[in-house]
Amino acid sequence: MERRVFGPVPSRRLGQSLGINNIPYKICTYSCSYCQVGKAIKMQVNRQEFYKPKELADEVKSLLKDIQKNEQLPDYITIVPDGEPTLDIYLGKLIDELKNFKIPIAVITNSSLIHLPDVQEDLLKADFVSVKVDAVSFETWKKMDRPHKKLNLDDIKQGIQSFANQFGGKLVTETMLVSGINDSPVELENTARFIETFNPNTAYISIPTRPPAFKGVFPADENAVTAAYNIFRQHIAKVELLTGYEGNAFSSSGNFREDILSITAVHPMREDAVMELMHKTNDGKELLDNLLGENLLEKSGYGGHYYYLRKFKK
Ligand code: SF4
Repeated sequence: MERRVFGPVPSRRLGQSLGINNIPYKICTYSCSYCQVGKAIKMQVNRQEFYKPKELADEVKSLLKDIQKNEQLPDYITIVPDGEPTLDIYLGKLIDELKNFKIPIAVITNSSLIHLPDVQEDLLKADFVSVKVDAVSFETWKKMDRPHKKLNLDDIKQGIQSFANQFGGKLVTETMLVSGINDSPVELENTARFIETFNPNTAYISIPTRPPAFKGVFPADENAVTAAYNIFRQHIAKVELLTGYEGNAFSSSGNFREDILSITAVHPMREDAVMELMHKTNDGKELLDNLLGENLLEKSGYGGHYYYLRKFKK
């Protein structure tokens, strides 16, 4: 049988993360337009048994033993299959088993079943939960996430809010931006207003970084991501970008080139802030021009200001 535990892998959200694939490949409640797992997803909404929690925990145990020899224990054990982890009826039992390792547990869910009391009960056991909020209007949600026909968006929204009210761990959201589907100012405003109602620790904005499953689906461009960041920031205290550059973020080295590349991979920087940073290291504007010329940075306008943003593709 193929291994269902992998890593640890570096993750900006979670540090070093040991991943667990708790359901078989491609079983999901959604068939998202941008899914990088591929089109042939088996869709279902009923929870069921897939693997025995004890077996998965034993795999983790043996991997941790190897890791321990090198003294590099992960920051999180993360339940993140190529599908929807809450379809696993034993999710709660799995988390209970994993707690024996005394490492925080994270679950990355698309939140489509979060309105179900038994799913909430299971997720409440985790230390970190990431919920997907791609869109809050029905038509856009349908186009983005291509949900199973038995799912109801209002139930999901209420489920996220009621879960957030009870959860004592770290709750974050993830919003994937697809060009022409959910990246208009009106959609972004509605999404941000909804996220504001339950006050997550961080709202992450991401774009598909590998080829999406469906034709005609493209990542939002730098202008749309900058606009999204600014709209979200008007409603949510902490907003970060996940645009595929996981390494080096926020390393402060006194090296302007490295600093601006790492910061703008996470936050678009307003031009005045960029100038301030540049002056700290006595660098000249030609360094900035070089980065634009090398296609490592993009300059885009929003709300009467210019922003610098890390280019997604070199
Ligand atoms: S929720 Fe994740 S695995 Fe499921 S279809 Fe969407 S992107 Fe793919």
